[in-house]
Amino acid sequence: MRAVVFENYEQFPSLTDVPKPSPGPGEVLLRVAGAGACHSDVSVYRHFKEGQPGAQRPPFVLGHENAGWVEELGEGVSERVKVGEAYLAYGPIGCGHCRKCAKGQDTYCENVATMPYLAVGLGRDGGMAEYVTVPAHHLVPLGDADPVDAAPLSDAGLTPYHAVKQALPHLEGGGRHALVIGLGGLGQIGVQILRALTGATVIATDVKPEARARAEQNGAITVGAGARQAEEIREITGGRGVDAAFDFVGITPTIATAADTLAQGGRLTVVGIAGGTREFSFFTTPYESYITNTYWGTVEDLWEVVDMYRAGQIRPDVERFGMEDALEAYRKLEAGEVSGRAVVVP
Ligand code: NAD
Ligand code: ZN
Repeated sequence: MRAVVFENYEQFPSLTDVPKPSPGPGEVLLRVAGAGACHSDVSVYRHFKEGQPGAQRPPFVLGHENAGWVEELGEGVSERVKVGEAYLAYGPIGCGHCRKCAKGQDTYCENVATMPYLAVGLGRDGGMAEYVTVPAHHLVPLGDADPVDAAPLSDAGLTPYHAVKQALPHLEGGGRHALVIGLGGLGQIGVQILRALTGATVIATDVKPEARARAEQNGAITVGAGARQAEEIREITGGRGVDAAFDFVGITPTIATAADTLAQGGRLTVVGIAGGTREFSFFTTPYESYITNTYWGTVEDLWEVVDMYRAGQIRPDVERFGMEDALEAYRKLEAGEVSGRAVVVP
């Protein structure tokens, strides 16, 4: 079968033929409906080096945002999982036996150091192929919802959802403001989730005017790039600052914008993995504010994301690519030319 393979560190992936997988015990074989191209894949094949935190040894098939139809059940899988029906796959795979995995939070598996891979599509073959195998207990049923548009939800939906959920106590009550920086795959869905779950005014920014226009359609007030950016954000909040900020870029200047516009007691979540830094001192930090990071989400979160999708509260903005154009999807993603999320439809 055709697949997008990450063959070597610091090398653009290849479109090549690999054997069709078969499901192991507790797994299912999914016929892939759609696989999203996440910006983290660019870090995987462009920047990560052997032994670096997060690096996963090649070769493997990319694609950690997958939806598809169950084609075959592996040994021991309950017939509650229905052959022929559409499911979204939760990507992270922990040991399955620690207290984090027990509550569906495989991202923070306590035995991660001894796991051979992080996730489907990160160290183990992913969904940029005609078929992929996934653990059966990581499937979320999609019913009659479109599985191609759903594919990005397993990361571009789940990650902002988890980040927003952790920040909800900061956004309860009237007169609250949230800031979203970076309006690509994750950020656009982040805006939709904030609008659906909170009454906060959502302020959003991106270097690309078309990304800002889409965020406005999703109910955000947008601010352009430039020297007055932080001042403009603060003015919208009446000078108080934002109660929760989400940085989907994560370079030093975007972390600075978010930190400099934070209200007292505000919470900044750095989601983008660009590795930017921020100096802390007593005098330059709003009182009792927080800076944190986050990684993906839980299986339970993903069920809730699917509920929001099926209720029409999340509408992923998907640009579809055929299998033979899959590498073009990554080229466009790197060039900043993707509108919303690129999804490969094999
Ligand atoms: P994307 O390429 O779809 O979107 C990034 C957006 O940021 C683009 O719209 C781009 O124009 C904008 N941008 C770039 N530089 C900017 C700047 N200086 N100021 C404002 N906007 C800027 O990427 P994505 O797939 O949405 O991923 C976003 C980030 O989140 C990446 O770093 C990715 O690796 C990371 N990520 C983290 C997790 C996690 O669990 N923490 C999960 C998935 C992705
Ligand atoms: Zn575990």
